[in-house]
Amino acid sequence: MDTVSPQIRSSIMSRIKQRDTGLEVQLRRALWKAGFRYRKNVRIFGTPDLVLARSKVLVFVDSCFWHGCKVHCRKPKSNTMFWETKISRNQIRDRKVAGYYRRRGVTVLRIWEHDIQANLDGCLMRVAQAVNRARAK
Ligand SMILES: [Zn+2]
Repeated sequence: MDTVSPQIRSSIMSRIKQRDTGLEVQLRRALWKAGFRYRKNVRIFGTPDLVLARSKVLVFVDSCFWHGCKVHCRKPKSNTMFWETKISRNQIRDRKVAGYYRRRGVTVLRIWEHDIQANLDGCLMRVAQAVNRARAK
């Protein structure tokens, strides 16, 4: 049995999500400083975190929890089925999004939040490489 009610559990999990966005902000600011121009909150399929429109690159920052990172995703001990279903649904959606854009010649870059935490410069490099490759197409 869970020690907290579903409502409280739900609010705990949504707070995890909010904390995660801090890493997305870090990446975004670093990209902007490095001269990348992007749009955020663009309401297109999959709702990417950043859209680098000119080079047709979409950046998704994946939360270790919500996207089921193999290293950091700790599923809550209670309602395990509920969370597993939710997370695996996200993963299926991620694959669908990847396929959708691949067919349209758009580059999809997925960056784990733990990569931003561990190596922000490395993440900048990945975006730079994706942009260069997309422009060379
Ligand atoms: Zn992770």
